[in-house]
Amino acid sequence: MAALKESLAKRLTYQSRPRSILSPRAVLLFDIDGVIRDVAGSYRRALAETVHHYSGWRPDSGPIDALKGEGRWNNDWEAAMELLRRRGHTPLPDFGELVEVFSGFYFGGDPAGDPKHWRGFIGSEPLLVDRGFFDTLAAADIAWGFVSGAEPPSARFVLERRLGLVDPPLVAMGDAPDKPDPTGLLRLAEQLGGGDPGAAAAPVAYLGDTVADVLTVVRARRHRPERRLVSLAVAPPHLHAPERRQDRRRYEQGLLEAGADRLLQRTDSLTPAELLRWTERDG
Ligand SMILES: [Mg+2]
Repeated sequence: MAALKESLAKRLTYQSRPRSILSPRAVLLFDIDGVIRDVAGSYRRALAETVHHYSGWRPDSGPIDALKGEGRWNNDWEAAMELLRRRGHTPLPDFGELVEVFSGFYFGGDPAGDPKHWRGFIGSEPLLVDRGFFDTLAAADIAWGFVSGAEPPSARFVLERRLGLVDPPLVAMGDAPDKPDPTGLLRLAEQLGGGDPGAAAAPVAYLGDTVADVLTVVRARRHRPERRLVSLAVAPPHLHAPERRQDRRRYEQGLLEAGADRLLQRTDSLTPAELLRWTERDG
């Protein structure tokens, strides 16, 4: 019985290992925060609490969404500092100290240490997809990976520990310049797309939830005009509540104006057939 369980567990693990697909039909890259997990009660709450720690003002989702809508505040540490600056808070805190305060709220323990000792908001992050979602993509010869501005321990925690993915292809904070710089996106797309950077390579789609994510694809196209690069966008979960329908519509309009090709209702509503249709050259 124990042996059977073990072999079953091994098989399940194996299925969720990103298959190395020699010539995938498409490459689908994901942002993590707001796309794979809901960070309203974690990263976004840590941002608000950090601002509150210094200024006594706790920004709600309005000012945070407005800032993110500008497309260049993907890094939450810098976003916290910018909210303090706009609030007129003086003197501004030392950046390194702000990062530590933020980290205390978010991880509540040593980010480099064992996650089981973390006591921060990271412990309350609802998942927006399950492991089977990635198996379905792989079965359709769609290669997948992640390009995120989250810190590597946080990104690995959600992908490996929470979702059970094994060695997921990942570009996280510090692995490449911050989005909307497209370096990380293009690097991972080329790794997963058969290594051919030219037009013959598999088409690439990137699914994100912010203007910065959309702009990353727009800029990537300038570097690789011959390659099919598609921007998919989804509103983050905190805007999915029925009473926020107007805010969501405005937010989605911003994503389209930034250049998103398609809006998704939810991450897990995306099907392989739909993706392949959208990534066709004239799709
Ligand atoms: Mg995001």
